[in-house]
Amino acid sequence: MKRKEVNSSRMPVYRDAGFELYNADLTTSAFKKESEHHREPDNYIYSRYRNPTVVSAEEEIMKLEGCDWALLTQSGMSAIDTALSIFQKGKETKPWLFFTEIYGGTISYIESVLKTRRGIDIRYFTPDDGKYNLKEFEKVISALKPELVYIESISNPMLIVADVTEIARISKKHRSKVILDNTFATPWLFKPLEKGVDIVIHSATKYFSGHGNLTAGVICGNDKKLMHSAIEYRKFVGHMLSPDDAYRLQTQILSFELRFSRQCENAAKLAEYLSNVSLISRVWFPGLKNHSTHETAKHLFAGKGYGAMITFDFDGKDKTEKKSRRDNFIQLVSEKIKLIPTLGDPHTILMPVEAVWGVKYPEPGMIRLSVGFEAYDELYGTISKALALI
Ligand code: PLP
Repeated sequence: MKRKEVNSSRMPVYRDAGFELYNADLTTSAFKKESEHHREPDNYIYSRYRNPTVVSAEEEIMKLEGCDWALLTQSGMSAIDTALSIFQKGKETKPWLFFTEIYGGTISYIESVLKTRRGIDIRYFTPDDGKYNLKEFEKVISALKPELVYIESISNPMLIVADVTEIARISKKHRSKVILDNTFATPWLFKPLEKGVDIVIHSATKYFSGHGNLTAGVICGNDKKLMHSAIEYRKFVGHMLSPDDAYRLQTQILSFELRFSRQCENAAKLAEYLSNVSLISRVWFPGLKNHSTHETAKHLFAGKGYGAMITFDFDGKDKTEKKSRRDNFIQLVSEKIKLIPTLGDPHTILMPVEAVWGVKYPEPGMIRLSVGFEAYDELYGTISKALALI
């Protein structure tokens, strides 16, 4: 065995831009294997193509997702761009069907990049009464025959849970590929590739990294052809994650299950408590029996949990009172619960829904919580004290 220079037990940060290839034969062989996914030392060429620290973090995600390949990118958005762009075939591109309850940034990307700049035929499928009508979906897909269907497992901010198993079954029947953004549910709640999904995306900025200190994205799958296309696309457009971010991600992801399971537990207790507070008119959390997709969530997540996001709305005699209660709450909890526009942080953070979504969700009393993994008593104490003062 070749002695290591240092007896480190973990993959270090390799900041090399290019790797030494020694001779022309090794160079030819490395370039031939450019679109493979492996970690043999002789086949690293250039860090925009593949980097050992990045591959090591990808292997941690493959274990979590139980998949054959995972590719890291600089952000969730670049993962989304990669997953979708590999299905673009110039003038031959068939329509792409997007479920409407997806991240606002993804909608902006669809409208501004896919539709306006690339001229792709984009269609949308809208929920009905807080859930997706799958009979209607089957009618749409059989008439449209889209190249792909794009969904999120838990939507934002209404936390609608999609019946992923059924959507994948129907899509497969009509030969459409399914791309799923599983950022909110994570593989801890369910593994989408086992349900027939073709590509899973995560904003690894959120629960995988879990500390709000980096941005990253990942796409995962089992189909080798899709992997080759995605490796090529990531290389051509330069979406590769940096080795420094990959190093932090590979370390932080080791505690992912501990963190996320605790976050789900905290969220379930907090949602139950908030749903009994008279100042609050409504709580959206898929674990509550009155949520429009509670049954789907129970089935899909097999009782493991319901995610760690909660949305609630302050009651009030009019919009002014609701808004003032919301603003008071934000002020009163601000020492412990910060207004930070992200999710999946260690501590509970919040966002005023109307200020972010505008006309889509104009209710002035609405707040979205990303529940953290702090001790539940501390979280409950902060929130119940603030509510008592309003
Ligand atoms: N997908 C979902 C569900 C998100 O919430 C976000 C960002 O908030 C993204 C994708 C984009 O990820 P990123 O900000 O890492 O680019």
